[in-house]
Amino acid sequence: MDNIVALAKRRGFIFQSSEIYGGFNGFFDYGPLGSELKKNIRDCWWNDMVRRRDDVVGLETSIIMHPKVWEASGHVAGFTDPLVDCKVSKQRYRADQLFFSAVVVEGQTVGYVSVLESERTAEELQEKAESFKRKKAVQGKLAPVIAKDMTEAQPDEIEKIPSPATGEPGSLTPPRAFNMMFETNVGAMRDASSVAYLRPETAQGMFVDFKNVVDTGRVKLPFGIAQIGKSFRNEITPRNFIFRSREFEQMEMEYFIAEDADWSKCHQDWIAWCKDWLLSIGLPESHLSLYAHPKEKLAFYSKGTVDIMFKYPFGVQELWGIAARGNYDLTQHATASGKPMEYFDEASKKKFVPHVIEPAVGVDRILLAVLCAGYAEEDVTDEKGNVEKRTVLRLSPRIAPVKVAVLPLLKNKELLVARARELHTKLKRKYAVFYDDGGAIGRRYRRQDEIGTPWCVTIDFDTIEKDGTFTLRERDSMQQKRITEAELFALLDEQVY
Ligand code: ATP
Repeated sequence: MDNIVALAKRRGFIFQSSEIYGGFNGFFDYGPLGSELKKNIRDCWWNDMVRRRDDVVGLETSIIMHPKVWEASGHVAGFTDPLVDCKVSKQRYRADQLFFSAVVVEGQTVGYVSVLESERTAEELQEKAESFKRKKAVQGKLAPVIAKDMTEAQPDEIEKIPSPATGEPGSLTPPRAFNMMFETNVGAMRDASSVAYLRPETAQGMFVDFKNVVDTGRVKLPFGIAQIGKSFRNEITPRNFIFRSREFEQMEMEYFIAEDADWSKCHQDWIAWCKDWLLSIGLPESHLSLYAHPKEKLAFYSKGTVDIMFKYPFGVQELWGIAARGNYDLTQHATASGKPMEYFDEASKKKFVPHVIEPAVGVDRILLAVLCAGYAEEDVTDEKGNVEKRTVLRLSPRIAPVKVAVLPLLKNKELLVARARELHTKLKRKYAVFYDDGGAIGRRYRRQDEIGTPWCVTIDFDTIEKDGTFTLRERDSMQQKRITEAELFALLDEQVY
């Protein structure tokens, strides 16, 4: 992970927000290459989800909406995470990420240990329990730890659980609900009546505008409304780089279906679609898995939620949630606004509030996934037999920030440069390309490998003296072959879509 973060900074993918002021926890900036990569992810999703489907339309709603939207949706009352304070260190923890266990020796509880969630939560608790037993010089056999998170702590246990910050018990508070919506005030008055929220998800825009889209969009059930946009959550513990931040971007789609439609099949179809889409932008199947939320943990209106999980370097984590939400959201807004949200089905002549399947994914989490899956350091042997390290980002041509680098073999040969410039200008009209004439050709290839450019074309003497072909060098195999301009455009047309 450290190498990926370093590369992201070094090559201008991702910077800390407000870095010159020491950064701002939970906020990030995307640099020249990062903003291209992000735009490509968004564009691929929009093209595949909206433009290339006949049953999904796009939408762009405002970030700040009427505060009643968030009352009706349940966010004002319930969009909370459980928070635990350490009264001594003033640190705050998400209760469900703070784990503890009793230290049990010969059937007796002799104390407690705690750790923050990680890939090794249980092992770390066990190590701490052993060390606790040693320090307290307790004799007897230590029982294996049982990891629980702070939401499961009994009232009498809380004061005995050590704070991860101080290592001492007595300073942790019982968990309390912390609302993650960012508040702001709208208008010149700053009082309770002017409070509004930055949206914590884009989805409510689709529900609130449902009628507008039905009345104007020439849509018929089943159909979807999709949106890409920023969302904001005042996460208690933003962490793992851009995985969990306070300002992020979502790509969400609400797929409306008839009340008697086979929701389970539709749900499965969307899970398959989302997984295929992730493969299409280059994520390896070996890193993807599915997690079905257990029934007892679902909201009362939810029929089922399946997350597509990704194997990040810091663990297997949620990438994309696909939820079957019944008709809860539309019904809530119909009740709160007094405006009916029913749909009239011409075929059956029935009126009903449609049900919905919601695939919701974060652009930043996808971007981090493609960086993690694509990053590699390898030993390569050059023509002279020297072994050197190359860092390569294996990004799919669909999303790579630069599709082709155009390299004149020598920068002081006018004919080479003129031909390279001409090709660069032509390519630029359709693709993100890069012109580089600085340094040895091998070094130029390495620079492109590191930012994930799938191809380099070199204009050499054969190009201008013989048949006009260039050398095409492929990033992953590092193989080279001669290619004509027409073949180059055909390759790009096929691979970049
Ligand atoms: P988590 O359990 O990780 O907090 P969630 O289940 O609350 O996520 P949803 O509300 O389902 O997430 O949001 C849909 C998607 O938005 C997530 O699958 C994720 O890709 C993205 N997302 C949610 N919160 C964040 C965040 N703080 N930073 C970056 N992306 C996020």
